[in-house]
Amino acid sequence: MKYHPDIELLLKYSSGQLAPPLAVAIGLHQYECKICQKKIKELEMIGGSTLESIDTTTNIKHESINSMAADMSSFDQLLNDIEELPDTVDEAYDDIAIARSDVVLFEQLNNRQLNDLPWKNVTRNIARAKIQMDFPGYDVELFKFSPHAKIPKHTHCGREFTFVLEGNFSDNQGQYERGAFIEQNQANEHQPIAGSKGCICLAVTDAPLKFTGALGPLINWFNR
Ligand SMILES: [Zn+2]
Repeated sequence: MKYHPDIELLLKYSSGQLAPPLAVAIGLHQYECKICQKKIKELEMIGGSTLESIDTTTNIKHESINSMAADMSSFDQLLNDIEELPDTVDEAYDDIAIARSDVVLFEQLNNRQLNDLPWKNVTRNIARAKIQMDFPGYDVELFKFSPHAKIPKHTHCGREFTFVLEGNFSDNQGQYERGAFIEQNQANEHQPIAGSKGCICLAVTDAPLKFTGALGPLINWFNR
């Protein structure tokens, strides 16, 4: 596994501070990624108490700035230590970061029970299923791409988080296999191409995509 959520996302996930759509995406990734399982487990055990000691809401005096700095450096050390842990997990991982109301969706996606989703064809080679999560500010969708389907070239108005459920795809940045978790932002213009077996991805966006190719303005208009 080559593509993982960054440490900030894992930290928020482990302390239950992540938006529910992202928590589901990271939950799916960590289920298949022993490296992230290990990091999350460690962050859950010791990260919470360390975070509580970094109190930025009270009066900040000189001494407390010093102690905050000390806490930050020990926290950096903690993150370094976690990076170096062996990537095997012995006991079963018990997930506490996914809200009870989202567990059904998580189980459905995790078991790849995807046929009952509200699929709609976008083009001959691309189908999309919108997922209702009742959480404002995020779009949650599944995309199904036929083998070798090309996704129109686009940038991102905000951030886009992609989890590969099945198959694989590639773009100018790399090759993404089942289980990969990829974050894109405004800086990344890319044109993904599905692999030889096609691809099914979960996409969580915090703002709509902006298509930039020749047909871009038309697609943007239809996507309003
Ligand atoms: Zn991972």
